Amino acid sequence: MLIPCPHCGPRDSREFTYGGDATLQRPDPDGADDKAWCDYIYARANPMGPHEELWHHAQGCRAWIVVTRDTLTHEITGARPTARWQDPSTDSDKKEAAE
Ligand SMILES: [Zn+2]
Repeated sequence: MLIPCPHCGPRDSREFTYGGDATLQRPDPDGADDKAWCDYIYARANPMGPHEELWHHAQGCRAWIVVTRDTLTHEITGARPTARWQDPSTDSDKKEAAE
């Protein structure tokens, strides 16, 4: 299976490490209850069809990317940098460090 890394081009999937569901939203640390944290940590959907997943190009550019993969056919229809790497001007960590 080839994964089209947006930084390196198509690469063998053995260069990558699977990072899980890319659509999970971390609960608000100040307002979430135990059930919300339990669901975030342990409950996983088992989607059928196109799904966004996190992959780490561990043996390449070492970037995390979001891959759209069909869970039935394993066909990969897209890959993009994670939001953090798409636009450096929106990186809140860098803005805070510069201030
Ligand atoms: Zn790469």
